[in-house]
Amino acid sequence: MSKFLVVGAGISGATVANILSNDDKNEITVIDRLDHIAGNCFDYRDDNNIMIHKYGSHIFHTSDKEVWTFLRQFTGFNTYMHRVVAVIEGNELPLPFNFNTIRMAFPQILAERIERKLLEKFQYGTKIPIRDFMEQDDEDLRFLAQYIYENVFLHYTEKQWGKSPDQIDGAVTARVPVYLSRDDRYFQNTYQGIPLEGYTSMIQRMLNCPNIKVQLNKEFKEVDLKGYDFIFYTGPIDELMDYRLGQLPYRSVHFELETYDREHYQSGAAVNYPNNYEFTRIHEYKYYLNDKSDKTVIAKEYSEDFVPGKNDRYYPVPGEENTELYNRYLALAQEKYPNMRFLGRLGDYRYYDMDKAVRRALDVVKEFC
Ligand code: UDP
Repeated sequence: MSKFLVVGAGISGATVANILSNDDKNEITVIDRLDHIAGNCFDYRDDNNIMIHKYGSHIFHTSDKEVWTFLRQFTGFNTYMHRVVAVIEGNELPLPFNFNTIRMAFPQILAERIERKLLEKFQYGTKIPIRDFMEQDDEDLRFLAQYIYENVFLHYTEKQWGKSPDQIDGAVTARVPVYLSRDDRYFQNTYQGIPLEGYTSMIQRMLNCPNIKVQLNKEFKEVDLKGYDFIFYTGPIDELMDYRLGQLPYRSVHFELETYDREHYQSGAAVNYPNNYEFTRIHEYKYYLNDKSDKTVIAKEYSEDFVPGKNDRYYPVPGEENTELYNRYLALAQEKYPNMRFLGRLGDYRYYDMDKAVRRALDVVKEFC
């Protein structure tokens, strides 16, 4: 029999706990400092019968069949496919920037010329990160690249990260490449959808096993570690090590919710405002599960630096310097806690999507199965 402690009841911790629980000789304790499970995936149905994603929109998408099959043990998913528009020069244009966007943004004659030149140079279906796309030797394509950079990336990224796209890790803006296609969807993965009863319910079922005990409002430092053979830690590693090498930077966001007495507020679940207002985007939650309500709830999303004690960690800040600091923390932490494994957005300091967090958890826990 082994006794395991899992620190954090988010999607990473719940995956590990669930896999460990398959062996009924294991005893698993999951702790979380919050008063709810599901971490930043937490959602709840409000008084208007609308499923609110408390920590911002979560859209599940993966091409990893094993991850998909694993999660479907705990929930059905609808067939929602995420679409995002950005308000550019007052018009709603589809993102990622694609051939449809080109047609909508420019006069027909220019759009056709640009499209022809793109297809002479690139294969249809190619995805090109904006940074690479900036390197064009043709005048029209240079104009297009500059237009996309200015109107989609520059100001949004300044709001979201407090830095320009050139000052942040290229992988971040590469999440939303220029897409030489007519596919308007935000994600192209094989499997996409929203859990039919929400993420909290899915994670509740993952944790609902006789040999898993969940303790909320519980700090890691309050736990007597003597009784545990192994620990899985999904929290921030700098805090675990008392910030002795300084803070690992994170970006935080906060949401201002507004309720409207009408069917819908905007055209879809996500509208980005790269160039206007202080917020980056507006989420309209009822679209995700097609909730029936006379009202609608929206959330305006504002970005800010993470400050301990003031707000929550949402995004690690990718970059060499921060990875190096993380690795130094990891070495220290492994020395202090030889029986600890690290995972999750915070534990690994990686900008994981949900499917990647589950993949990582499945890989880490294999050693114990
Ligand atoms: N981005 C942008 N403009 C947009 C959408 C995205 O500049 O309209 C950039 C921005 O730097 C953002 C990154 O692309 O942080 C990744 O966007 P994504 O939508 O994947 O971010 P998430 O939903 O994870 O916050």
